[in-house]
Amino acid sequence: MRAPLPNDAPLGLYIHIPFCARVCPYCDFNVYARQERLIPAYVEALVREMDLLREQLGPARVATIYFGGGTPSLLPPEAVARLIQAARERFAVEPDAEIDLEANPESAREDNLTGYREAGVNRLSIGVQTLHPRGLKVLGRAHKPHVPEQALAAARSAGFTNVNLDLIYGWPGQTLEDWERDLDIALAWQPEHLSLYALTLEPGTPMQRAVERGVLTVPDDDAVAEMAELADAKLAAAGWLHYEVSNWARCPELASRHNQIYWKNGRYIGLGAGAHAYLGNTRSSNERLPARYIELVREGRSPVVFKEAIDPQTEMTETMILGLRLLEEGVSAEAFTARHGRSLEDVYGRELRELAEAGLVEWNGERVRVSRARWLMVNEIALWFVPQVVGRQTTR
Ligand code: SF4
Repeated sequence: MRAPLPNDAPLGLYIHIPFCARVCPYCDFNVYARQERLIPAYVEALVREMDLLREQLGPARVATIYFGGGTPSLLPPEAVARLIQAARERFAVEPDAEIDLEANPESAREDNLTGYREAGVNRLSIGVQTLHPRGLKVLGRAHKPHVPEQALAAARSAGFTNVNLDLIYGWPGQTLEDWERDLDIALAWQPEHLSLYALTLEPGTPMQRAVERGVLTVPDDDAVAEMAELADAKLAAAGWLHYEVSNWARCPELASRHNQIYWKNGRYIGLGAGAHAYLGNTRSSNERLPARYIELVREGRSPVVFKEAIDPQTEMTETMILGLRLLEEGVSAEAFTARHGRSLEDVYGRELRELAEAGLVEWNGERVRVSRARWLMVNEIALWFVPQVVGRQTTR
């Protein structure tokens, strides 16, 4: 049976590569070290899962393909080429689709990157994290500080003109000066896009346990906020567009198209171990263990192990929570009505007026967005749209 695709909007296609040379102490993604031997069978399973989805969805339109992980740059270029080609054969992948691949600096060599570029990858995301030797050590990263610059040079030689650098701030022992130095170097390298993430201590990770035991100390909330403000001010002065809470682009055209599908609460397919999908009104996730995922798909069985119907109230809440992260665009009243069949004013009029009076959002009847001076409060502001929060609406 075909799942409904609302408004026939093109989908994002996420492909999860769950392999890493080693697992970083702060990471809680679905990743596994020393299982690279599974890669050939895993790639075949991904193609088989595309077959299963093609049967279910028909030739769905796909606007973006995103290889995330894990470490997708552990894949040989032929595997990436095979997956892109397989997607093009099964789905209506738009000719100008954004095709993005996450690369670790140490595996981003020119031969690999040239192969990815030839395979059709047109956006590269390099996981720099920090350029500080102590930071690299505490984050458990294998590369030396000079390696990301080599990776970027290799990306340029391979023909990539759209490169993102990921950086993390707020790691144990980091000072504001350390962070400023990372930013200065990254800016001097002139990437097209920067993703700057505050470190989150995920429960159960080695880093979280070390902080709990007092072995490591992370900067306090005020210090992390100061780092965020520094990034915001420095990048604004350099002419960058702060279009999402953690993301900056040199111009609107260079904003991540794939991630905008998530922030606009759009629909996406997720392929691979532990990958998530959102189609029709159903969110689902796959079997997490790579070997078990391969086995299921090989037997022609669906790897989906969890499904959840998203009710209209939850969907509207999510549109607000995600959309407010888009600091320039926010949530458009027109798009909200087209998507949910109800007006923003009708559903959230009271909240929007209260938030606007408090100076927390800008609301002009056509679009709501977080006030620029309050961008660091985006999570608190989003709570106003959550029905369960005491004192806010409980039924709609
Ligand atoms: S390289 Fe990335 S995905 Fe892999 S363990 Fe480290 S943080 Fe997690």
